Amino acid sequence: MKPYIDIHTHLELTAHSNIIALRNILLQQRNPVLPDRELFSIGLHPWNTDQVSLDTLFFQEAISLPNCRAIGECGLDRLRGASLDIQTRLFKQQAQFAESVQKPVIIHCVRAWLEIIDLKAEIQPSVPWIIHGFRGKAATAKKLIGSGFYLSFGESILSMNAVLAEIVRETPPDRLFLETDGGKCPIEEVYRVASDIKNLPLEKLQENLLLNFEKVFGKYGPS
Ligand SMILES: [Zn+2]
Repeated sequence: MKPYIDIHTHLELTAHSNIIALRNILLQQRNPVLPDRELFSIGLHPWNTDQVSLDTLFFQEAISLPNCRAIGECGLDRLRGASLDIQTRLFKQQAQFAESVQKPVIIHCVRAWLEIIDLKAEIQPSVPWIIHGFRGKAATAKKLIGSGFYLSFGESILSMNAVLAEIVRETPPDRLFLETDGGKCPIEEVYRVASDIKNLPLEKLQENLLLNFEKVFGKYGPS
């Protein structure tokens, strides 16, 4: 049976053989305990940029672990956290760390699309940058895809919002990911809706997203 892949969740995975999940670990005041086998991503969330500084020694060690598969979520949020200047500095720092360990970046972006696109042009990362939980405008999605970003969609695609559905339809299959972000909606349901929207059999979508996962985040199986 083909797996479901949840590239961004804040919940610990319950024993479920058919889901591959990337659990997001937030850097908060105290350094977190890292999972010893579970796949994870780790980063300083823009919302926490006014309380936490980056413990670079800890961070470097954490992101070097083989089960750490991405840096993030990190990014820019115009509505919460420290000033955009500070957020930008912290984001750039994390993006550089991502380059040094050659792992992708999972990005949280709210009302700072031009800035994030400019940062990508400036840094010219060699690792993939993924916008998580995308629910912006069609024109924004188009610009992001044109700039080489991946887009990940979550439970908001269940809302039957026609604009968002069109964006999912227009996202090239090799730039697409799905996630739960720790919401109540199971990843299977997000897949089901995405397969409807894209008019793609569920199995095909699973195959497609598994390919994307292995290309961007590495092999999931035992090494
Ligand atoms: Zn999240």
